[in-house]
Amino acid sequence: MNRAVFTSWADALLGTDRNQRVRMTQALVASGIYAALSVIVGLGVLLGLVEPRPAAALAVTVLGVSAVFLALIRSGANLRFASDPALTQAQGFFCVLAACACYVVAGPFRGAILMTVMIGQVFGIFALTPRQARRMATLGVTALGITMTAGAFWDPVRFPPRIELLNFLLIVLMLPIIGWLTGTLSAIRNKLRQQKVQLENALQQNRLLATQDELTGLSNRRHMTTLLVAERGRQQRNRMPISMVLMDIDHFKRINDGCGHQAGDQVLQIFADVITHGLRTGDALARWGGEEFLLMLPNTTAEDALICVERMRGQLAARSFEHIAPKLTVTFSAGIGVCTVDDRTDAIIERADRAMYRAKTAGRNRTVVA
Ligand code: GH3
Ligand code: MG
Ligand code: MG
Repeated sequence: MNRAVFTSWADALLGTDRNQRVRMTQALVASGIYAALSVIVGLGVLLGLVEPRPAAALAVTVLGVSAVFLALIRSGANLRFASDPALTQAQGFFCVLAACACYVVAGPFRGAILMTVMIGQVFGIFALTPRQARRMATLGVTALGITMTAGAFWDPVRFPPRIELLNFLLIVLMLPIIGWLTGTLSAIRNKLRQQKVQLENALQQNRLLATQDELTGLSNRRHMTTLLVAERGRQQRNRMPISMVLMDIDHFKRINDGCGHQAGDQVLQIFADVITHGLRTGDALARWGGEEFLLMLPNTTAEDALICVERMRGQLAARSFEHIAPKLTVTFSAGIGVCTVDDRTDAIIERADRAMYRAKTAGRNRTVVA
């Protein structure tokens, strides 16, 4: 079968949500086990060991209830049970009841049926908490205990009390051990899941630290270098100019000295905020040095870059810095370098830097195109 056909088949059967697919797969495996068990009991009927009517009733009930579980999960109705969306507890309880019924129906080979209740317990690894696993084991012991006692009491010929006692002791030994193992594994799984979330958070944090300037939230120099390389790659195909703008806040030292370093930090944050708001998608702004910023404008000529930078200058002039210090105004000087396909990136930044210094010496608060 071709892969695409197989995938669409799998999607139709299991759905597309990852978690729901896992739940559907588990419920399908459980249904498969019930079907196989029904076949084995049916074989018992053919061999004359099992009564046909109770066996048929059991098979129909068990397969019908598994179909209901499958329908609940496939339709998404299971999601209403937020604490146990896989319906593991309900399926586990049903497995115990089915095993008890099978134990009654199975005739002389009923001892082997005890294994099925253990499989039900093992399924709990996927979703049960240690407490739920213990509860499930207790339910198994109690339900089978009642079944065996009732059998030995009402029908001692088919349920010889001595054999029932030994079977019960076996269950008392096995189910709690499986319940304990299931609970322990489930606790380990939960811990691993928590550690995975913590690791993902730490990784995300690391990624931010490696790419972001902490004070302004802008790209740092290293990340900007990566963005520049990527943009130069695109330029090889579209052959459009990239404008590089170096911006430096004027007399920043005076702000620091006059209003304090913290006020200086606030000015840097506001500057970053104002310039960022003037960007188009594809543009990038980075903190290049202390109070120096590099703006990358792809597909932009020097004339358009100049218009853009002057618009930003107006926006910065309109921004109030009164809350930092009365009468404080902030201006910047900028140099624009235009990078064509054949230029070297560092040479253009160098050129923009020299243009920016020309803007400084020409009186600041202005832009010079290299
Ligand atoms: P010019 O107009 O010629 O650019 O003068 P300027 O005072 O802005 O230039 P200069 O490069 O002499 O001073 C930059 C100052 O920026 C010096 C440094 O202490 C300050 N600075 C660098 N990084 C930070 C920062 O993160 N926070 C604060 N508050 N100040 C910073
Ligand atoms: Mg400066
Ligand atoms: Mg500077």
